[in-house]
Amino acid sequence: MLNPLADRRPIFRIDAHDRLVFVNAAWVEFMHPERTQHVEPTSFHGRSWWEFVERGQVRQLWALLYQRVRGVAAPVFVPMRADTATQRRLIDIELQPQHEGVIQHVCERVWTETRASVALLDPTHPRDERDLRCCAWCKRVQVCTGRWEEIEDAQLLLGIEATPTLPKLMADVCTTCKQSLLKTFPARVA
Ligand SMILES: [Zn+2]
Repeated sequence: MLNPLADRRPIFRIDAHDRLVFVNAAWVEFMHPERTQHVEPTSFHGRSWWEFVERGQVRQLWALLYQRVRGVAAPVFVPMRADTATQRRLIDIELQPQHEGVIQHVCERVWTETRASVALLDPTHPRDERDLRCCAWCKRVQVCTGRWEEIEDAQLLLGIEATPTLPKLMADVCTTCKQSLLKTFPARVA
């Protein structure tokens, strides 16, 4: 087994109280590839994982997955888009239950493709009072009730111009991802 510290896959672990107890350098880099100054992975240790997860349905769905993984003591795989302004990235997160309620998250990069920069995903772009819902799992944006589109299409459909300020993106979950997550159960090991 690879040493998770040296592993090039982003890896982090939470304890039974959902506090970060291990984070590797690959995860820090993966979360904020645009960051220029070095951040020590150990600076995340002891912080609640929920500081990084939007309240509401997104949090409830993660909590449900953790409950299932801990309950059955078997892993699940959660596919997820982890886009940046200039890249579409698809990852598979494996939630691996360990001793005493610890869950290790291992992110496998499935694919990455470069695109023209999307200002809506640029964390440094100034925001205004408008907001848009963005699915935390597939990164599609809600254009009207029940309809979620890729961010570039949503921008066109909603007529969002490249203005000095842009709407805030609020993490939520689309119907398709919600249904698939609700059906995600760890396979019981025989
Ligand atoms: Zn979705």
